[in-house]
Amino acid sequence: MQCVTCKKPMLAIEHKEIELDYCPACEGVWLDSGELELLMESFRIANPAQVIEEKLKPAKDCPEKPRPCPVCRKKMEKMNFGDSEVLTDHCVNGEGIWFDKGELEKILNLHLDQAQEVLSVFIDESLNKH
Ligand SMILES: [Zn+2]
Ligand SMILES: [Zn+2]
Repeated sequence: MQCVTCKKPMLAIEHKEIELDYCPACEGVWLDSGELELLMESFRIANPAQVIEEKLKPAKDCPEKPRPCPVCRKKMEKMNFGDSEVLTDHCVNGEGIWFDKGELEKILNLHLDQAQEVLSVFIDESLNKH
């Protein structure tokens, strides 16, 4: 799969039954549909599906340009997570979610103390396996 922002090939990472695509160049992350729930669950965040449904809202007056989905190439929809300033890109066909560098950590940080550390361990461990 090609990176949404820099078009470089992404690495497929699998760790604890969760799959994500990671761009080593820009450190962006693509999660297929349902993987965010699994990731939150693995970090022991309660009721992830409910949390996501409640917090994720379409972004209003977004200054960022829409980007094409890496799977179906359709323009993705910008979403805002809770009160954070995080703007994620969502496939309109529900294929998955794109997170720019640091955005996934910010979302997890709303629920955890050290998400940044946890996620970098997750990625490092998986990369070292290859
Ligand atoms: Zn990239
Ligand atoms: Zn798509």
